[in-house]
Amino acid sequence: MSFDLLVKNADLPDGRTGIDIACLDGRIVAVETGITADAAEVIDATAKLVSPPFVDSHFHMDATLSLGLPRMNQSGTLLEGIALWGELKGILTVDAVVERALKYCDLAVSQGLLAIRTHVDVCDDKLSGVQGLLEVREKVKDYIDLQLVAFPQDGLYRSPSAETNLLKALDMGVDIVGGIPHFERTMDDGAKSVRRLCEIAAERGLMVDMHCDETDDPMSRHIETLAYETQRLGLQGRVAGSHLTSMHSMDNYYVSKLLPLIAEAEVHAIANPLINITLQGRHDTYPKRRGQTRVSEMRSYGINVAFGHDCVMDPWYSMGSGDMLEVASMGLHVAQMTSREEIRYCYDCVTSHPAKAMGLEGYGLEKGCKADFVLLQARDTIEAIRLKAARLAVIKSGKVIATSEPRQTRLAIEGRPGLVNPADYAPKEH
Ligand SMILES: [Zn+2]
Repeated sequence: MSFDLLVKNADLPDGRTGIDIACLDGRIVAVETGITADAAEVIDATAKLVSPPFVDSHFHMDATLSLGLPRMNQSGTLLEGIALWGELKGILTVDAVVERALKYCDLAVSQGLLAIRTHVDVCDDKLSGVQGLLEVREKVKDYIDLQLVAFPQDGLYRSPSAETNLLKALDMGVDIVGGIPHFERTMDDGAKSVRRLCEIAAERGLMVDMHCDETDDPMSRHIETLAYETQRLGLQGRVAGSHLTSMHSMDNYYVSKLLPLIAEAEVHAIANPLINITLQGRHDTYPKRRGQTRVSEMRSYGINVAFGHDCVMDPWYSMGSGDMLEVASMGLHVAQMTSREEIRYCYDCVTSHPAKAMGLEGYGLEKGCKADFVLLQARDTIEAIRLKAARLAVIKSGKVIATSEPRQTRLAIEGRPGLVNPADYAPKEH
């Protein structure tokens, strides 16, 4: 027996150590200790973490890397970001969208990020973003699983041609139905938009992923309607609520009623820590709310919670680097999830949890899964987050598609070691 790729002596996210992973024809065919068969390529992973690839279940690839076009967001607020995007949208070309998105995908691969769900604005009658990202989805399909969400950024009812454009985008091949109920003119219109969009998804057999309650208004309760419509239409497990930031500010008693409804409807929750910590609480003086949704509390009800990157260098967020470990780090800080066990959970929020929300087939490190994984310069998942560890190798379909040199520094201090490797600072539990 000869394998295409054999990884020797890896540490896995579930705590197993010294494990070999054999790959053949794009799949993992064995995960055990002491595999001795030949392989075309062998990777020594001794004392290093091998993880399934990072997954970003909430992104805006039509806007990414557009920072400064046509001008900077001076206030840093969500509303100026939306206005600024409106200015850019009018002058967007398909070629420009494709070029920026492909450039972002290069960065994503270098970070071991191999599955992305991106929203694409359909409130542009030319549908340049849709055309561009459909082209990109095809171009990157051998190395990135790209899902597209038809996103009516300016409101399904608030923007006159949004519904027509959204249906057209779905006809063109966009995968998922999006929405933005809190941006409609009234609460009532918001609720109606949730109902209508879920019906469209049910009729077409599609998934739903809505920007839902991305506001500090504690009375923004569209997630309740989303959970209700999910159940009414039998969409359990196929619907995600993104952001859900109003939940941060809601009355505790109401939340105690709401969380079981979300759990019962199997609605996935996607928080976006980098963006929510910068955009929420902007109207507060002090104390200033963090705005991130209630991660620990949703977890305790068995709700599947993922963390998304949301934005990288665009009208809403000038930072970001495609590094989902940075996202996990911010998520755990903002949610104050600092126990060892909770930090491991936050790693799952950028790997297995978003994979579940996106319904990815063959995701994981078990026999029979796709041979997609990342070798990290870290001992375990906690260390990976702490260090934003270097991705030493990124493997897709059993082939190495990206490599990086280990991060280390030469010291020139008399009496001290010559080399500092950040991964050598792991705590003694190893
Ligand atoms: Zn978003």
